[in-house]
Amino acid sequence: MKKRILLLAASILTLIMLVACGGQEATGNSASDGKVQVVTTYSIVYDIVKNVGGDLVDIHSLAPIGSNPHEYDPLPEDVKKTTDADAVFYNGLNLEAGNSWFDNLMETAGKNGENAPVFLMSKGVDPMYLTSKGNEGEEDPHAWLDIRNGIQYAKNARDGLIKVDPENKEVYEENTEKYIAKLKKVHDNAVKEFNEIPEEERVLVTSEGAFKYFSDAYGFQAEYIWEINQENQGTPNQITRIVDIINEKEITGLFLETSIDPRSMEAVSDETNVPIRGTVFTDSLAKPGEKGDTYISMMESNIKTIKEGLEE
Ligand SMILES: [Zn+2]
Repeated sequence: MKKRILLLAASILTLIMLVACGGQEATGNSASDGKVQVVTTYSIVYDIVKNVGGDLVDIHSLAPIGSNPHEYDPLPEDVKKTTDADAVFYNGLNLEAGNSWFDNLMETAGKNGENAPVFLMSKGVDPMYLTSKGNEGEEDPHAWLDIRNGIQYAKNARDGLIKVDPENKEVYEENTEKYIAKLKKVHDNAVKEFNEIPEEERVLVTSEGAFKYFSDAYGFQAEYIWEINQENQGTPNQITRIVDIINEKEITGLFLETSIDPRSMEAVSDETNVPIRGTVFTDSLAKPGEKGDTYISMMESNIKTIKEGLEE
């Protein structure tokens, strides 16, 4: 009898040890142990993915804050982070197309395969197209300036993160739901604020023609010096063209962008005597801690700047 109890005790002990070791091993190998390593192409995509991923993700963003993501030269560190990343999120719609920098980086980092964890933020967005000479028919990348598209970006971020980290599906879903509710409020507020401006006065003149999606969403006409950031910006022909439009349409206010050299718009302002009414965010967030340092804050700032600028 004593022997049987001892045997039983021994086998229970073995069982406990097995369970304990098994448990340890499971934790050691679990994906939830380390954060999901993410690479994003620029600050706006960074912020949307951050809102969806929360504390579960560790994000390295490529084009620095304040820079222009149309053109970027990846650094050695970017190549390393991209190679090691569990997921890469990019805008698409031709945004990261300058010198094919993004495609080249994906190839170098071995993330160009069909099943590579590379996710398109603008998936499901209805593209709008460029019309200026030499760019006709190309997709316009600036979809995020319509907040309804920003909501679509959030859903794509969620789906991508769930794909690489299915264990945390519920967290990503919950974060996305909360974030979308906030974005909807900002969109509704934009509609309300801009509806207070008479429609014929809703004309937005910026350096780059980044406001197509925005104009479609909020009932504006968008004019620009050049249609899209590329090598030839602010040429004499482009300046003459916009000066004629400003005079013809009797436009009373111009806007600068935070991520673009102000000199071309300043020249336009000098030539037309039409003042610059404010600076808007297009291709980059502000530095952390400054107004416009999140997608929501940048859109709120744009709504306020444009509303007040056009009412002056
Ligand atoms: Zn742009």
